[in-house]
Amino acid sequence: MTAQIIDGNAVAARIREEVRQGVEALKRDYGIVPGLATVLVGENPASQTYVRMKQKACQELGMVSFGYHLPGDASQIEVEALVRELSANPEVHGILVQLPLPRHLDEEGVLGAVALEKDVDGFHPVNIGRLAMKGREPAFVPCTPNGVIALLDSVGVQIEGANAVVLGRSNIVGLPTALLLIGRNATVTVCHSRTRDLPGVTRQADILVAAVGRPQMVRGDWVKPGAVVIDVGVNRVEDPTTKSGYRLVGDVAFDEVKEVAAAITPVPGGVGPMTIAMLMKNTLIAAQRRAKAQAAAPGGL
Ligand code: NDP
Repeated sequence: MTAQIIDGNAVAARIREEVRQGVEALKRDYGIVPGLATVLVGENPASQTYVRMKQKACQELGMVSFGYHLPGDASQIEVEALVRELSANPEVHGILVQLPLPRHLDEEGVLGAVALEKDVDGFHPVNIGRLAMKGREPAFVPCTPNGVIALLDSVGVQIEGANAVVLGRSNIVGLPTALLLIGRNATVTVCHSRTRDLPGVTRQADILVAAVGRPQMVRGDWVKPGAVVIDVGVNRVEDPTTKSGYRLVGDVAFDEVKEVAAAITPVPGGVGPMTIAMLMKNTLIAAQRRAKAQAAAPGGL
């Protein structure tokens, strides 16, 4: 069997087009342009690239981006003060604090300073708490996990009742993905570095999500025939045949697993484009909510 390749670029392009139309409508109906503030601390090259990609996406979709770049030795007080200022700025509808922050900073304190209604990354402790609780809705769903679910939906996977295995339990990918799958009535197993017999666990999965950051760790014989495999991992491996000297691979041995799975995401071109598309969607939602609240307030817009 050769798996269906789930085309993240195509799904993301559809979402981006919907967002672009939503931005136009918001401008037309309310005179509001969605604004996303990005907060980058330090000189991590990967973080700089991610922030640039997010700012570029804003421009392409007709949104405004406000870029803030603090030095790597910025203090907790300085970073939180900036985030609070942005939380109070009416032109900013979404705030994105690029993670990871330098080690001397307390991530929870910084993320906790983001106004809930601007938490377009969905990482505010209250939003994660709501995501974890039955019958509660977070203001925003974290972008990469939301992208994982959208990719599953794009190929019509039956999530309800499925055995889902999530490899990785990080705050930004593994854990929220597991919570979303639980919310969609899958039976979910979360694996991590202390899990025993990983291949034995992953072979039980109808839906397998890999988010560990280990190049091509998931082999063909780790996967149940007919499973759907979503590869979140982005890893650089040396490759002298490329101009840059490296190439990107996922956490899944794609060539092996595609012979076993029913559907699989490639890297690149799978989950990656979904993350930014979902961030843009969340920023539009934040601006739409603000527009409606302003219109409903005494005196209207
Ligand atoms: P983290 O390093 O924060 O978390 C990795 C998780 O994998 C941890 O829970 C860790 O376990 C677990 N793990 C690590 N090694 C093993 C192992 N050998 N066996 C079993 N479990 C293991 O990574 P992130 O969640 O931030 O990211 C995961 C991957 O996803 C990375 O490649 C990252 O680049 C990529 N990513 C991609 C995005 C996209 O848009 N496509 C967005 C964000 C991330 P433990 O908790 O025990 O330490």
